[in-house]
Amino acid sequence: MPRTVKILEGLHAVGGSGISSTGDCMVYLIEAFDGYVLIDAGVDAGAIVDNIASIGIRPVSIQALILTHCHIDHVGGAKMFEDLGAEVLAHPLDADAIESGDPVRLALDYYSVLYSSVNVTRKVEDNERLSYHPFEIEVIHTPGHTPGSISLAVEMDGHKVLFGQDIHGPFNDSWDSSIPEWRRSMERLIDMDADILCEGHYGIIRPSENVREFIQGFLGTY
Ligand SMILES: [Zn+2]
Repeated sequence: MPRTVKILEGLHAVGGSGISSTGDCMVYLIEAFDGYVLIDAGVDAGAIVDNIASIGIRPVSIQALILTHCHIDHVGGAKMFEDLGAEVLAHPLDADAIESGDPVRLALDYYSVLYSSVNVTRKVEDNERLSYHPFEIEVIHTPGHTPGSISLAVEMDGHKVLFGQDIHGPFNDSWDSSIPEWRRSMERLIDMDADILCEGHYGIIRPSENVREFIQGFLGTY
């Protein structure tokens, strides 16, 4: 049975634990006037596509899929959205793995699935602003978990929403993880003082005091 979680007017969780297939990261959908924007694609897009359709949105209306990093639980479903017509965006430092399907950098051994590679048609850099009317989505390069990990921030309905995705790690030398870089990235996210954090596996954290406490909690762990 399809499931989604409405976070704000125009913002939904459409994939993730208890929402779509086991192993999917949290997948978020922003309703822009000129088409929908999807943040990450899960490991298997089938249930996510059903969820999106269940709230009256045609999956072919997704204009952009922003991949926060190259791990299979975030990019495994990308091919289906590419085939439906979405432009695929990612940071250049992770885009090469997404395009080549490098099994080590994709962490394929964590999941027994096949990966169909996609073309990253738009490489996004730190501080870039992506316009999806009426929203401006800010790209924040947050290396650490992987070299090309990005976070995204957007003002919606009077709230500053941060899509931090894999804030919690983990870290692995074979992914070129860097805990010192991750610590700097997390300090930067704390300084953004977001009202709502949409995380990659832990779901939706609010208000701002809880967002700060959540990130600081992981900083205290590593
Ligand atoms: Zn990851």
